[in-house]
Amino acid sequence: MHVYSLCSSSRTGSSYVVVGSRGALLVDCGSTQRHLRQCLASLGLLPSDVCGCLVTHSHPDHVRGIRLVARLGIPIFARPETMEAMVARLGPLPCTNLLVRASSLDGGFVATAIPLSHYAYDGSCAFAITDGEASTLVVTDAGEIPERTLDCARGSTYVICEANHDRVRAESGVPFEGGRWRPKWVLQEHSLGSQGHLSNDQAARALSRVVTAETRAVLLCHLSEDYNRPDLAVDTVQASLASRGWNGLVTALPPDRVWGTVSSDVAGESRLAGSLL
Ligand SMILES: [Zn+2]
Ligand SMILES: [Zn+2]
Repeated sequence: MHVYSLCSSSRTGSSYVVVGSRGALLVDCGSTQRHLRQCLASLGLLPSDVCGCLVTHSHPDHVRGIRLVARLGIPIFARPETMEAMVARLGPLPCTNLLVRASSLDGGFVATAIPLSHYAYDGSCAFAITDGEASTLVVTDAGEIPERTLDCARGSTYVICEANHDRVRAESGVPFEGGRWRPKWVLQEHSLGSQGHLSNDQAARALSRVVTAETRAVLLCHLSEDYNRPDLAVDTVQASLASRGWNGLVTALPPDRVWGTVSSDVAGESRLAGSLL
């Protein structure tokens, strides 16, 4: 199994690709149509290779390219409330399928939707995806993760997890250098609240309950470009996991470049590929 990030921020959108032994799955499609076409081509994927697009929730940075997904004939899978919210905003979409909890998909994939709290009308959800040989957990856009929420995905091979903001910075309201200032009420409602986004600390806590010796890599996603820094997010999560004896690879996904994992056992370690585009 390989995991690719096509883009990963609220500005650039969120789109991930999980490639199994018998097909590929998109998770969210926040890419523009042009970007999605370019990325699929660069990964050597035809639309017919993509067994489905799982949608975490209806915010525009996760569904910007969903019309192209539908036009390409790629089946769209979402919880009923997300489907309703997407159709209300975008109009009827062909190739839609309701995902209630665990569903078997083409390509030998089984996807489990795990509801999360978020300020979208439809909330959000994590996806635990397996192809029978390996597994990937995608957790993004969640205000908090109650303790046992992700238990069913413990030991996932790859974990893509939101690390949106540095809590101290977001609470102070002062962005990092080069970042845009946001009013405190926006930060309170959209980032810090129980329906906002995961801070680096919250990501570290959630990951400590999911990551095991089976986990090859932790990929931090949806970093705020204003109230977070990749090195801070990685350091926070790495230190937390190291204190529990896990010293695998932790990296922050770039907002606007394709990035992928390549698993190869070199002295027992996974190797991650760098930027592809
Ligand atoms: Zn988002
Ligand atoms: Zn969102």
